[in-house]
Amino acid sequence: MPNTTSNPSSSDLAFINRQLKQQLKALTREASHNEVVLKRFHDRELTLLATETLPELLSCLIDGMKSSFDLPNIKLVLHDPDHELRHLLLHSGIEPESLPDIRFIDQIEHFSPKLARYKSPWLGPFTNQDHALLFPDGTLLKSIAILPMLRRSKLVGLIGLGSHDPNRFTRHHASDFLNRLATISAICLENTANREHLVVAGLTDALTGLHNRRYLESRLEEEVTRALRYQHALSCLFIDADHFKRINDTHGHGAGDSVLREIALRVKECLRASDIATRYGGEEFALLLPQTDAIEACNLAERIRQRIEDKPIAIHGGESVSMTVSIGVAPMRYEKNANTQDVSGKLLDEADKSLYVAKESGRNQVQLAEQ
Ligand code: GH3
Ligand code: MG
Ligand code: MG
Repeated sequence: MPNTTSNPSSSDLAFINRQLKQQLKALTREASHNEVVLKRFHDRELTLLATETLPELLSCLIDGMKSSFDLPNIKLVLHDPDHELRHLLLHSGIEPESLPDIRFIDQIEHFSPKLARYKSPWLGPFTNQDHALLFPDGTLLKSIAILPMLRRSKLVGLIGLGSHDPNRFTRHHASDFLNRLATISAICLENTANREHLVVAGLTDALTGLHNRRYLESRLEEEVTRALRYQHALSCLFIDADHFKRINDTHGHGAGDSVLREIALRVKECLRASDIATRYGGEEFALLLPQTDAIEACNLAERIRQRIEDKPIAIHGGESVSMTVSIGVAPMRYEKNANTQDVSGKLLDEADKSLYVAKESGRNQVQLAEQ
């Protein structure tokens, strides 16, 4: 031990010097470790900020963080009271229930009053009793971090990070990086959801909830390309309400709207999940039917026609109106050396022409395009 007199001996000084050097070494080590950690967090944040779609963001939060932070278990609980996030995912063709590490919750308070109270990250040991709700498959976990995602002081979700190392997350660890990451995640979630809303709104018909013409046009070439490549059938239906103007003229525009909504609903009820239904404009609907040949398309068109004719449509004041539709059917034609654009154009054109024939032949009928 060094002596404690006021004039330290040279051996004391050497001791102090050694100690200081060790401290400096430890601090340098810690500083460079922090730098590595900071860089990892920065990279993750930049990747999160660069995501454009909701599926991309969710994958970045779960799979991206698992690999960049080398964690075996990450869970996401998202507050989704209006099922908005779930609808957006469905719109991208993703079943929310198929995402094993993400749960969409109507009310986090009901899911777990304890989790709903977190205002800052919690780091500590995993206990089955306290944390099985967040990590139902967490039996091997030793330490966890629970990060509340706050947006304008409101809890919009929780990120659970789970490790097999008991020292990975302890209450002695600083949590500001994690807090920042959770806040950035919350902002990214809000931004991507807003952005996707706009996209969905731009491709959706507000009155009927069907897709709109723009969506049909964007999907048409894609479906034609696929059908040509795999030699699948593809058909198109044009449906137009008969004498629709009379409904507006007799019962008013509101009644006309109700009728359009009901026609859309009845059409939708006849379709498979892979069929694409759009309100093409006014009282006209266009359907794209993948893997459907001319005969199947005519059968479907006939079922739609009957479904609309069979039951009058309720409008306001307890009244109802009888409606019929005319339908033009066209199958995609294979032609040697024809390009996708030509085939797509011809498909719509033939369905439109057949619709015209159906109208000319007396309405309330299905017409198949001539070979
Ligand atoms: P046809 O049997 O020849 O198809 O006759 P029609 O009366 O159905 O066709 P026409 O094209 O003469 O009239 C369509 C009407 O649909 C005219 C338009 O004002 C009305 N319409 C278009 N969009 C809407 C809408 O969103 N709501 C309502 N209520 N009416 C609409
Ligand atoms: Mg019409
Ligand atoms: Mg029309």
